[in-house]
Amino acid sequence: MAVLWLDEISADDLETVGGKGASLGELTGAGLPVPPGFVVTAGTYRSFIENAGIDDELFDVVDVDTDDSSALATAADRAQELILETPFPEELREEILEAYHEVGNGEAFVAVRSSATAEDLPDASFAGQQDTYLNVTGEDLLNRVRECWASLFTQRAIYYRQEQGFDHSAVNIAVVVQQMVDAEKSGVMFTSHPSTGDPTMIIEAAWGLGEAVVSGAVSPDNYVISRTEDDIDVTVAEKKVMHVKDEETGETVEREVPEEKRTERVLSDDELSRLVDLGERVETHYDTPQDVEWAMTDDEDFMLQSRPITTIEEPDDGNLEGAGSEAVVNAAKGVTDGSGSIRSAETGSDDGSTSSDGDSSEATGEILVDGLGSSPGTVSGAAQVVTKLDDLAKVGEGDIIVTEMTMPDMVPAMKRAAGIVTDEGGMTSHAAIVSRELGVPAIVGTTNATTVLDDGQLVTLDGDKGAVLEGETVDPEEETQPVEEVRPQSPVKPMTATEVKVNVSIPEAAERAAATGADGVGLLRTEHMILSLNQTPEKFIEENGTDAYTNELINGIRSVADEFYPRPVRVRTLDAPSDEFRQLEGGEDEPEEHNPMLGYRGIRRSLDRTDVFAHELEAFARLYEMGYDNVEIMLPLVNDAEDVYRAKEQLKAAGIDPEKRKWGAMIETPAAALSVEELAEAGIDFASFGTNDLTQYTLAVDRNNEHVADRFDELHPAILRLLEDVIETCREHDIETSICGQAGSKPDMVQFLVNEGVSSISANIDAVRDVQHEVKRVEQKLLLDSVR
Ligand code: PEP
Ligand code: MG
Repeated sequence: MAVLWLDEISADDLETVGGKGASLGELTGAGLPVPPGFVVTAGTYRSFIENAGIDDELFDVVDVDTDDSSALATAADRAQELILETPFPEELREEILEAYHEVGNGEAFVAVRSSATAEDLPDASFAGQQDTYLNVTGEDLLNRVRECWASLFTQRAIYYRQEQGFDHSAVNIAVVVQQMVDAEKSGVMFTSHPSTGDPTMIIEAAWGLGEAVVSGAVSPDNYVISRTEDDIDVTVAEKKVMHVKDEETGETVEREVPEEKRTERVLSDDELSRLVDLGERVETHYDTPQDVEWAMTDDEDFMLQSRPITTIEEPDDGNLEGAGSEAVVNAAKGVTDGSGSIRSAETGSDDGSTSSDGDSSEATGEILVDGLGSSPGTVSGAAQVVTKLDDLAKVGEGDIIVTEMTMPDMVPAMKRAAGIVTDEGGMTSHAAIVSRELGVPAIVGTTNATTVLDDGQLVTLDGDKGAVLEGETVDPEEETQPVEEVRPQSPVKPMTATEVKVNVSIPEAAERAAATGADGVGLLRTEHMILSLNQTPEKFIEENGTDAYTNELINGIRSVADEFYPRPVRVRTLDAPSDEFRQLEGGEDEPEEHNPMLGYRGIRRSLDRTDVFAHELEAFARLYEMGYDNVEIMLPLVNDAEDVYRAKEQLKAAGIDPEKRKWGAMIETPAAALSVEELAEAGIDFASFGTNDLTQYTLAVDRNNEHVADRFDELHPAILRLLEDVIETCREHDIETSICGQAGSKPDMVQFLVNEGVSSISANIDAVRDVQHEVKRVEQKLLLDSVR
């Protein structure tokens, strides 16, 4: 039997039909209304490759050094070719087509989805690409089945299995084939409150097919239904677009919702009670609250998927947050569209403050130097003054580095140090950014630490207060640990409508960053990958070739994209000022600039050196080929639409389709903020506030000059005015807004931006959890204000 019908399958058949197939089979068996269909089993895939005699070559071919990206690309191409070019044996072809004809009584439209069977992989998406093909008809089904099989051998999938030590030949794949539901309305349903577990059902609904709700393309109606009292709370959203099947091509297309239906309530009371009934049946069947995707046609209700809710939190601070919040937040802000839907987060740690103030490790000695506390925590150790790179060798495990300013070469020493103190720099300097990501307490901008402190002197560094104290006042046993290690771990994070992401600057921090439970990476700086090569890009290319340069970027970005997959990772193209390049080998060829911050950096440099930029963009193109569809491209220091159009041409020249990939611009200059309408017309998908630069350029305050650090105010009314205007304009153009500057970690800024309706906030690793809670608090307040 090459196929199994859904009604023949139960949850125990995971090995044969994969996770998706088993879950749909279980629901069908429980009598729930699942669209009819069958699964081409994992065994069928296996016998296909074995009977065709391609199995040995297949597994041989993919046994490559995955760090060699061209070898990996060749391996993936060959493996996929082997599968895609092997014809179906006649008997198998007939069996699949016969089942297909039975599904819809003829040439029905079906959905085809891969369903991986590798239970022990942490995320089955790594096993296969999770390919989905909608509205498939006739013989095309056979090609789609083969494409699902071939998805086991994308570059990303091969890389991941190799990295994790999984045997390629031990992973199999099944394919689910199911009748398409031509939904008139659809959405999602939480059978219990996704945060508190209260007996409250939350249903989101929009017109047309479900992808619009699941992908966040439309802001849906929201229905909160008490299961214990006769109480329904309805928030009707303005639904501008819907996804429907194009009658001619059969493809799913986005259409405008007719004017009269935009503010019409999607679900009647009767339909709601039918969904509640379905929700109760599925919850009873699994004996645990479920997160369900549903669809309705004229006369039938369907359940497309059901998963356990993984976000239920122990009760803490009220129960109005969560699923209902987004529609109401949007209503409060007049947001009408493009805002996304309920998201169920799955990882993260529990509440707690990032500050380590007031614990038993508080230092009390005499203050020797003070500066800006830029990475929290309190530690004691021996100072080691580093004035030249050779001095780094003397920095031992647990020492405190004291230096003018850190540089990329210092990162290995920064990792072994207990703390870092610098003379120069502000909260957005290299020392501040890297120490936060490494979780090493740090103080920057002391002006005099290298002259006041001596080698070997025992000191205590308080990274919260920004003070270095005399003596070893902290018992090493009591030192403040990096935040996430001292907090009790809980499997949930607060659920918020505004996404909370994390900034990453050094790939080594990716694992720590992903463990925060952030919704993705809002800024991955690529400079550190390049600066740590110790040669300017031009010099590195001259000595090692263009492929080596591209590979460095691929490897750096991939390690972060993998850690977060499928969560999005916004990667910024190179942005380092020429003074940083001047310190590297080849730096003598860099321009000498009076004001590097106002000079040759970001997109200006890239558009001037398109030959080098092309190799950078090639890294993105190759990552897309490998299957890293979670990578987004962000352009730094854009001033106007001209910059964006020119960069877009470069993307196209590198084989990146700007219509297919998600890309956007940083808003870091007043000019960019004032031109955002034109940037929107140039096609950006998102605008991200780089408030470190936006503040320095708007207020004329050098971000790294400790003498004017007290004037560096990201909450200055002039900045807030720019932020507010950009958010408003972007909303009108359906463009996402985000912040990735340091200010995104500050509660006041979080409050301001959530109130303004920003789409996401990207924070430092150590601030993510607090920002999540702050966002939740502000959203709750908006929710309460809107119902009072
Ligand atoms: C910013 O300017 O706010 C930003 C995030 O970019 P960087 O700090 O790397 O200049
Ligand atoms: Mg910047």
